[in-house]
Amino acid sequence: MSSTDVVEEYIQDERDPSRSPSVPITGLMVQYYHVCKRELWFMANGIDIDRETTNIQRGTHVDETSYGTSRRSFMIDNRIQLDILDSGDVMEVKVSSALEKPARMQLLFYLWYLREIHDIDKDGVLAYPTERKRESVILDETSTKDVESTVRGVLDVVGRDSPPQLEKKPYCGTCLYQDLCWM
Ligand code: SF4
Repeated sequence: MSSTDVVEEYIQDERDPSRSPSVPITGLMVQYYHVCKRELWFMANGIDIDRETTNIQRGTHVDETSYGTSRRSFMIDNRIQLDILDSGDVMEVKVSSALEKPARMQLLFYLWYLREIHDIDKDGVLAYPTERKRESVILDETSTKDVESTVRGVLDVVGRDSPPQLEKKPYCGTCLYQDLCWM
């Protein structure tokens, strides 16, 4: 089966109520894929520590008080939680831009999921209120390819029998899996 077929099959599984995807991908999984594939494997294979605290330490935690009056939260398909602004844009709020790519890919995944699974076209806004920074995130041809490559990658990593090879990352020191990896 080609890589493209893997993504198409994933979309079909998500769209068909009588089927379910073998790996129900979440925004957090997309974020982890771009932070550390080993961390993704641990989390997706039931070796779960304290994700909330891990995210806070890394400055990726959503600030629940930011933009509270102008956004509403939605839970889609019991696992995709996202916020929509009054403007209609999907917003992802992070404390720090230190992990900008994982945050952007998480938001792009939400936009892709809405379009491919629910036929809803949205643009996104990535916001770092403590840095007074916002950026528009658009699902264009290039970013669509990036998301689909990520979906393939997540399915590949999660489906492995063992975690990806150990590699030192800049954020290992703030990762709660560090005892599993380095001790
Ligand atoms: S300690 Fe480092 S290598 Fe291990 S899961 Fe965390 S970030 Fe990945």
